[in-house]
Amino acid sequence: MAGDSKDEDTEYGVLLYYKFASIPDLDNLFTFFDSNCRSLSLLGRVRLSPNGVNVTVGGKLSSLEKHIAAVSANILFEGTDFKLASCQQPSNDKIAKECGFTSLSIRVVEELVTFSCHPLLNSPDVSNAGKHLSAAEFHSVIQDAGKFIEKESPNDHRKLVLLDARNLYETRIGKFQPPNVQTLDPEIRQYSDLHAWIDNNSEELRGNCVLMYCTGGIRCETASAYIRSKGDGFENVFQLFGGIQRYLEQFPDGGFFKGKNFVFDHRVSVGSLDAYILGTCLLCSSPFDDYSSRNRCTYCRMLVLVCNSCQKKSSQYICELCQKNGKTVGSIPLIANGESQELSLPVEPEDVPTADHAGFLPQLPWRHGTQPSRKLRILCLHGFRQNASSFKGRTASLAKKLKTIAELVFINAPHELPFFYQPGLGDPDYCALSSLPPNPSPPPNSCSKKFAWLISPDSSSQSGTNWEIADSPFDPLQYMQQTDGFDPSLAYLKSVFSQAGPFDGILGFSQGAAMVASVCAQKRTLKGQMDFRFAILCSGFALKLADCEKGSINCPSLHIFGNDQGNDRQISSQASRELASLFDDGCSVVVEHEFGHIIPTRSPYIDEIKDFLHWFL
Ligand SMILES: [Zn+2]
Ligand SMILES: [Zn+2]
Repeated sequence: MAGDSKDEDTEYGVLLYYKFASIPDLDNLFTFFDSNCRSLSLLGRVRLSPNGVNVTVGGKLSSLEKHIAAVSANILFEGTDFKLASCQQPSNDKIAKECGFTSLSIRVVEELVTFSCHPLLNSPDVSNAGKHLSAAEFHSVIQDAGKFIEKESPNDHRKLVLLDARNLYETRIGKFQPPNVQTLDPEIRQYSDLHAWIDNNSEELRGNCVLMYCTGGIRCETASAYIRSKGDGFENVFQLFGGIQRYLEQFPDGGFFKGKNFVFDHRVSVGSLDAYILGTCLLCSSPFDDYSSRNRCTYCRMLVLVCNSCQKKSSQYICELCQKNGKTVGSIPLIANGESQELSLPVEPEDVPTADHAGFLPQLPWRHGTQPSRKLRILCLHGFRQNASSFKGRTASLAKKLKTIAELVFINAPHELPFFYQPGLGDPDYCALSSLPPNPSPPPNSCSKKFAWLISPDSSSQSGTNWEIADSPFDPLQYMQQTDGFDPSLAYLKSVFSQAGPFDGILGFSQGAAMVASVCAQKRTLKGQMDFRFAILCSGFALKLADCEKGSINCPSLHIFGNDQGNDRQISSQASRELASLFDDGCSVVVEHEFGHIIPTRSPYIDEIKDFLHWFL
């Protein structure tokens, strides 16, 4: 190498490393990485947190070596495992862009890898992580399945289980497949789902010797610490140090690893000398493991494998997980926001080892770096006597302003109201977004139906006349008494999540916000059926939450409502404020505005909304 400086100068490479360490001065480190990476023309991702650093960068091999030398000079990085691989320069623009290899993004995040999106679930303490095994040790443990454990403790009858800490789309194309060892594949879409899998499958782990692995090691650090934090019966957790990457370097023929190692840079995947193809085409099941065409599930946007000939036949795919959830194309009538949906922006990397999800920490800046790489899907619940289409129309300005970070999805509530209501008369949500022109043209017939999440007890089988009597237009609180029909609405939302999910968050307006609040209050019991990371409650009020204590709803929330001067004639500021107070104020943000019963989209309100959403990107 020394004699061939020309080659070295043109050769390209990718460098990965992480280091858990308490960072005394984040600003200082940020400046160092910024100037060092820029001066060396490195591209990729650098994530800095109070607890360490996670880096995936590409550039000239010689530049990467200079970077390593500069980083190593800092005592903080003592003992860091720098994984440097030479490879081709990115040739596919789309992949390079998706992988973040067309720019340099340096960000300060709360966690290096987002173990959970729940802000109140403390991240596991990595100092309690599973014991590191070198590639050679890992290999011999598998080879001697069982013997190793006996050595640790002679009376032991624990069995060895091999746990893949990665996502389904990674496992699909390559994994450890040793004979005689039980393997556990969590089949998750993203790393932040792993803790729930561990919770739900803890009996498979309890009392056993758990051997874990991931791409480069970082995900196992946190996940193994989480397993160990469960206490008795969960002590024996081991992790492959340096991940599959180091293992394949040690065992170039693949060893016990079959297939290819999925990587989060432009290489897409890295194989061994053994050309075995583990993956199969989603449609025709023929052997196939090439993700370079970046096909994704229509519903959840997870990468899917579709062979070249099947790609010509279809462009709509439903991943295995969505198929399991009984999803078929178009089974729930969704009105997605056209503005944001037509964009073919990259949606990955959603859970790369250097995950950007900042969790929820309002003090940290998110603006370092580049555009978010993924859009948030937000399910939007309209107000009383609205419908998906009208609500979509009324939030068009909001959708437009959020189009690079969020996709709004609208649905009708399940309770159809029995007659076409005269707009403007006692229709609490009619003037929802009064900054828009008042109903410029008559809505099409299909849109004239009005729906509700909650109804009055006698409404279901009644004709419209009863409604007119019951629904006095001058009593703004009247429809706030309508609390029937919650259970069918909740069941309906569960089916929407199952068929059209996943959703990152739920937004509710007025009665829709009351519905969202009740869902948030039950978030724990709904786990697995309705998983979302945040709620946005606009002009909200509390229903069925009488026994809810202040601050007891643990869901990151954004509350937007008109202040006392704003004169929301439908929902009093006090009602919205009271609702907000039920949410844990450690993770709630309140935006009061002076525009009454609307969602304001002008500055500074729109910036506050964006700031909130950026915590989840
Ligand atoms: Zn096929
Ligand atoms: Zn899917």
